[in-house]
Amino acid sequence: MKLLLCALFILMCFSVHCIPHKQIALTLDDSPRAAGGYLDGPTRAKMLLSALKEHHVHQVVFFSVSEHLHGEGLARLKAYGDAGHLIANHTHDHPDFNTVTLAQYIESFEQADRALASFSTMTKLFRFPYLREGNSLEKRDVMRKVLADHGYRNGYVTVNTYDWYIENQFQNAIKAGHIVDLTRMSRFYVDMMMQSIEAYDALAVNVLGHSPKHTLLLHEMDIIALFIGDLITALKQKGWQIISPLDAYQNEIATFVSDEILPFNPGRIGEIARTQGVTKGLWPQALQESYLEQQFQLRVLHAQSPSN
Ligand SMILES: [Zn+2]
Repeated sequence: MKLLLCALFILMCFSVHCIPHKQIALTLDDSPRAAGGYLDGPTRAKMLLSALKEHHVHQVVFFSVSEHLHGEGLARLKAYGDAGHLIANHTHDHPDFNTVTLAQYIESFEQADRALASFSTMTKLFRFPYLREGNSLEKRDVMRKVLADHGYRNGYVTVNTYDWYIENQFQNAIKAGHIVDLTRMSRFYVDMMMQSIEAYDALAVNVLGHSPKHTLLLHEMDIIALFIGDLITALKQKGWQIISPLDAYQNEIATFVSDEILPFNPGRIGEIARTQGVTKGLWPQALQESYLEQQFQLRVLHAQSPSN
């Protein structure tokens, strides 16, 4: 009997407590991003902060574009910082590193560094706009040195997403006069995000041998204010734990440096996969505009037309 109880205890321990969670941090780009479509800026901030609090996510990071730091945009970013969330650098004016000069790019980075210095939760992480880290050896290596000289680390993503494309679909449908069913919209959004997360995690397990601490690419926009709670619930149901970005960027893959010049970067897992000769699956289906378009039409718009 004792043996049986002991075996039962061990079984419970493994099934409930001892199986490690997969871990992921939430990172939101472009804040304060243009508002005034479905929600105005203050409403977006209020809904987003309240959903994070309600779902016990204590810290996310907002990668900020500092040219929008005035008026309501400035107040919005302050509200995020005051709630304990991290503020980090996403340049001053979101340049495309493939098209601007190195000098222009460094100036945009340094301008944002100065503008964000006064935020109490400012953290020296840098997210390259469009994830583009330089299309020449000189751009790539000089920018790496500039970041190090300023005490910055690369705020890479492990999970690339096209959430910005889904936001455009949502806003365009509203503008076109569709009454979008928010329950269907949420299911579509959460499913597309989970598809990206699971695809990159499977790729990571394939190339690393385990699931690393992930960083999820999101943007500060209306669909995240509306549906982040549903996304967090879905993640938890599938065994994910939401961690602070500070924790995620302590990961062993944080110090990985690619030898390649990548004008178009699939994210950190994709970079590592390429070193092992893996080139397939770096851009999963949920990052394809044609797939998102078809799914949005089918699951959100057509699903609610009178003929259905
Ligand atoms: Zn961006």
